[in-house]
Amino acid sequence: MGLIVQKYGGSSVADAAGLKRVANRIVAAKRDGNQVVVVVSAMGDTTDELIDLAEQITPIPQGRELDMLLTAGERISMALLAMAINNLGHEALSFTGSQAGVITTSAHGRARIIDVTPGRIKEALDGGAIAIVAGFQGISQDTKDVTTLGRGGSDTTAVALAAALDADVCEIYTDVDGVFSADPRVVPAARKLKTVTYDEMLELAASGAKVLHLRCVEYARRYNLPIHVRSSFTTNEGTWVVKDHPEGGSMEQAIISGIAHDKSEAKITIVGVPDRTGVAARIFQAIADADINIDMIVQNVSAAATGLTDISFTLPKAEGAEATAILQKLQGEVGFASIQYDDQIGKLSLVGAGMRSHPGVTATFFGALSDAGVNIEMISTSEIRISIICRETDVERGAKAAHTAFALDADQSEAVVYGGTGR
Ligand code: ADP
Ligand code: ASP
Ligand code: MG
Repeated sequence: MGLIVQKYGGSSVADAAGLKRVANRIVAAKRDGNQVVVVVSAMGDTTDELIDLAEQITPIPQGRELDMLLTAGERISMALLAMAINNLGHEALSFTGSQAGVITTSAHGRARIIDVTPGRIKEALDGGAIAIVAGFQGISQDTKDVTTLGRGGSDTTAVALAAALDADVCEIYTDVDGVFSADPRVVPAARKLKTVTYDEMLELAASGAKVLHLRCVEYARRYNLPIHVRSSFTTNEGTWVVKDHPEGGSMEQAIISGIAHDKSEAKITIVGVPDRTGVAARIFQAIADADINIDMIVQNVSAAATGLTDISFTLPKAEGAEATAILQKLQGEVGFASIQYDDQIGKLSLVGAGMRSHPGVTATFFGALSDAGVNIEMISTSEIRISIICRETDVERGAKAAHTAFALDADQSEAVVYGGTGR
């Protein structure tokens, strides 16, 4: 008998019919002789709808109250799913994140899991029940307030629970057949990956491939827990996220595993910054103090005549207003000329472990972008990733062009999107 943690995303439980379909699947896993823990997201676009509703009340809702509101979404789906399973003659008990022992930091909207103490889940399993856990939520260790883990955070709930329960596998059920070489909604010729390594998946998730939440991949890597990403709409084998590609596969392993895109970032340029020791430190410390995550940074060579330089960096659009306000306060002290804010940018990233040993990847990538008429505004690289910033309107064209240039296009179309609105 094994212990399986399954996670069902919002599109898999979008309506009553979806909940019933998923309930049947869960019961089948239980009938196979497994202990089953299920993590569930809010139904369909509920989370977005709740955010829209809050914004109709106030432009900047308090983090505590927004988290209280958003966690209601997962409460609805967990209770309905438990009812659907009970209706099939199997015992199911639903638990909030707090009841499931998901202990987090107190940063509302982006809390991190500190500990998982799943005593009640174990009790439920020992009693023969299926445990249903609300994803994306926890309780702060310090304030005892309800928190959320950031958009897409149910994946992280699932992997964290799987690690705490020492599960055999964590299955992430979604609206596509697995992890593809690009987002199937953007590149219809994308192909399904049989395996992807933790390192590759980390880079893809960090670069905007929202099929898995970044922190869930960090967790899985830390505990060496295999993740099986698959569709809840088919029984097709999905993608295994594992430590290494299987032996023998490496010869055929493509240089590039995947292409990710991200339209959620903005670019801030600080113009006319005095090129002095300590200035960059001062600027980025102020940003860091506000807990704002920055991504790419580019500093130009300073003009000899003026000793002034420009510094550009990217950050989540959602944090753009706060960062701009912080910088404005620094203007007098640091003495830069002005701040430019641009939220019409997009990011394209190529990821692949094979990049380490293959020269020329950058040249092929940039050549493909140039042929597609995509202008590169910023560049950053890691050992297994190349990312560029371009105009937001160029992202899809650039992704398709790069996908073709690296011979990733599937021979026969295999990328089916079974549900979801892509919101
Ligand atoms: P869920 O609601 O199940 O959590 P998400 O919408 O969070 O689903 O994630 C699934 C979506 O991720 C897919 O519908 C797809 O549009 C998107 N996606 C982005 N990049 C990829 C990729 N490389 N492979 C598969 N899906 C991807
Ligand atoms: N419901 C949350 C969201 O939409 C969490 C999740 O689906 O993973 O972001
Ligand atoms: Mg998701």
